[in-house]
Amino acid sequence: MRLLENFKIQKKYIAFFALVPLMGITALVDTSCPVCDGSGFVYSNPEMEFVTITGIESTELPVTRDACGMFIIYNFEIKLSVENSGPDTATGWLLMHLIDFKDGQLIDRQYTVIEIPGNESWTITYRISFQAGHDEPHRTEVQPKLLKGEVPCETCSGTGGISINTWPIVNALKDDFQALQYEPKPWAPPTWPVDDEG
Ligand SMILES: [Zn+2]
Repeated sequence: MRLLENFKIQKKYIAFFALVPLMGITALVDTSCPVCDGSGFVYSNPEMEFVTITGIESTELPVTRDACGMFIIYNFEIKLSVENSGPDTATGWLLMHLIDFKDGQLIDRQYTVIEIPGNESWTITYRISFQAGHDEPHRTEVQPKLLKGEVPCETCSGTGGISINTWPIVNALKDDFQALQYEPKPWAPPTWPVDDEG
């Protein structure tokens, strides 16, 4: 009985050692990304054509730092007004730029998903985080841009390809990966202020 258990463990080791070099080799081979079908982009809906930004107010919240202190994380509360003059619900991407208004330099960008029913005007309030290398609060501003075309696919970082050894898992979780891209999320690693109610 004991001999049999030992044998089982050995078999597991063999499988493990055989699999690791194999994964190392296949990691170098690229294949088409299943989430964006190799295009490197995901497209927002054509209904976005009727959506316009009618107003934006941003309030700078206290900055936070990541664990290593390498990056400053700028937090903003955004009050955004959007209008959909089309008849259908529109789902699309909103690109937020963090701009240093003293020299006009682009510091960071963030994508947020928006969904708005047809013939409606909405004002939404939410929090957004940007990362930046320099520590100068109150010299930045947020500029919004509606994306009606495409945004880079996050799964393959916009390259259209993923390594062949990650393909089976990406393909199996394709729907989850696609759904993930439609979720607004903070910049990782999130180091939220303690008083954040989110
Ligand atoms: Zn992709």
